Amino acid sequence: MSTTPAVIAIDGPAASGKSTVGKLVARKLGFLLFDTGALYRAVTLAALTRGIPVDDEERIEDLARSIHIDLIPATQNDGRPYTVLVDGQDVTWGIRSEAVDAHVSTVSAYPGVRQALKKQQRRIAQKGGVVMVGRDIGTVVFPEAPLKVYLDASPQERARRRCEELQARGEAADYEAILAGVRHRDEIDSTRATAPLKIAPDAQVIHTDHLTIEQVVDAIVRLARERMAHTAPSTLSRQ
Ligand code: C5P
Repeated sequence: MSTTPAVIAIDGPAASGKSTVGKLVARKLGFLLFDTGALYRAVTLAALTRGIPVDDEERIEDLARSIHIDLIPATQNDGRPYTVLVDGQDVTWGIRSEAVDAHVSTVSAYPGVRQALKKQQRRIAQKGGVVMVGRDIGTVVFPEAPLKVYLDASPQERARRRCEELQARGEAADYEAILAGVRHRDEIDSTRATAPLKIAPDAQVIHTDHLTIEQVVDAIVRLARERMAHTAPSTLSRQ
């Protein structure tokens, strides 16, 4: 029997629903959700807080190697899916700020940052029973994942969903500005030299524009049960 850890890789562009879908898939399978974007966001926030210019590649790479980031189960009941700590400090909401949105793609394009964070991601995923959500999980971080999914949606649909999400939290949402931001991040994420956003050749592509969240989740859970029946049956039976 294969010893490949039970890892479900879900990649896709900004606001394609990866985290929402990933959380529900993880819950149905009894897996843990590992949202890798939180790591890149945490490095970006740490740089902004410490006054390190985001274009200072060397200092940002040093920062990524030196800070300690933890993703732990939610410590507060305020709608957070999990808690993010940087050197022990709670930054769960700080990493979702507009300032971080605006700079995270610059920071995540630095090879030294990606190298430092890839190590942490592989260490966590080796335990198996993980839904990993990101941009390069199926292509670079965990190419041996038994199931790879690429979630796609049009930029307009992704901007619309992001607006709804912000409004649900009582925050202002400017559709045109959000759409421009989504396109901008797509451009940087898919054209960077190191680990660009792309579809792994063996990924299942799911276009979500006309699907409900439940339909997407059910499709992934079905694929996971088929694919991993021979890989790690015990982890799939935890409901
Ligand atoms: O998924 P999320 O929007 O939180 O990711 C924020 C940013 O982090 C992305 O726009 C991308 O630049 C970067 N990222 C990445 N590789 C990952 C996850 C996120 O480059 N695996």
